[in-house]
Amino acid sequence: MTSTRAPLPVRDDLVELEGYHSPQVAADVRLNTNESPYPPPDAWREAFLEELATVPFHRYPDRRAWALRKALAELHGFRPEQVFVANGSNEVLQALCLAYGGPGRRVAVFEPTYALHSHIARLTGTGVAEGERRADFTLDLGDVARIAGEAEPAVTFLCSPNNPTGTVDAAGVLAEVLHLAPGLVVVDEAYGQFAPRSALSDVNDGANLVVTRTFSKTWSMAALRLGYCVAPDDVVVALERVALPYHVDVASQIAGRLAVQYRGEMEARVRTLVSERERMTSALRDLSVDTWTSGANFVLIRPRDRDGTEVWKGLLAHSVLVRDCSSWPRLSGCLRVTVGTPNENDAFLAALREVLA
Ligand SMILES: *Cc1c(COP(=O)(O)O)cnc(C)c1O
Repeated sequence: MTSTRAPLPVRDDLVELEGYHSPQVAADVRLNTNESPYPPPDAWREAFLEELATVPFHRYPDRRAWALRKALAELHGFRPEQVFVANGSNEVLQALCLAYGGPGRRVAVFEPTYALHSHIARLTGTGVAEGERRADFTLDLGDVARIAGEAEPAVTFLCSPNNPTGTVDAAGVLAEVLHLAPGLVVVDEAYGQFAPRSALSDVNDGANLVVTRTFSKTWSMAALRLGYCVAPDDVVVALERVALPYHVDVASQIAGRLAVQYRGEMEARVRTLVSERERMTSALRDLSVDTWTSGANFVLIRPRDRDGTEVWKGLLAHSVLVRDCSSWPRLSGCLRVTVGTPNENDAFLAALREVLA
């Protein structure tokens, strides 16, 4: 016998909100989710598995994740009290919204930017004030000032390099935003190591500044969910208050602590990807596509006389999968291409030449 039941209504404010999905389609060359094309070093894998074998799995992990926080603090020249770790940097963003957002409060975002900033804010019942970037996708300080005055955001999200445009905020922009924003300023640096500058050195107990980072991209560890932020001590305490007990499991804690011992290998992967990004960008200049300067491991392109989705389909017919942003607001006709291995990038460029021919 089958019993039928009517689904119960979810929270009213969720009805309008679609879940976040990154469409996955089978393809040989996968340049759609900005992961690293390279696995972490073999030595890391061996050390990780070896330590995992000694874990008392019947016990909860270290709730404070202290050894991991110490390792991250050392990596960046901070104290462990200034580091909050979580299940991917998306959980850091969620904790920030839970602690500083919520009903009656607002976050500010400057579109087009990472969709999860506004999405996570809404999931936590926080209002979203949408500012606009300039046509070249750089931050418009006039609009930052407008939003700061109109919405008095509790949290202002920046993203540098910005996903999906690759834009790196100019030197001096952050100081201006910190001056204008009434609440916390969060710089999402998921792609920070690919960029020429970082906001990390501006974090201190006297500034309302938080910088988030992830192990998903430069550290080649997307399968393990690990992200963190560096922030003033009181912000870290607030984030600990809203995090679930033992939210970072023992495997992620070990993985992250060991990963930073292979910083040199990470930086070598980053150098390879940056030089491939530059090679791709210059090859794209000879094709009939608009491109934007990127400080990340991806490039945004807009085919000039062709429909974006048609080009996306054409690439997929060559088994090359990129991200179709062409129907996203303010990104009409655009595709985002992750930088892969040299062979993958060659496959993409060859496919694109044929599709555009
Ligand atoms: C990929 C990405 C993240 C990473 O999220 P994780 O939860 O750490 O995997 C965060 N911010 C931006 C802008 C990203 O592109």
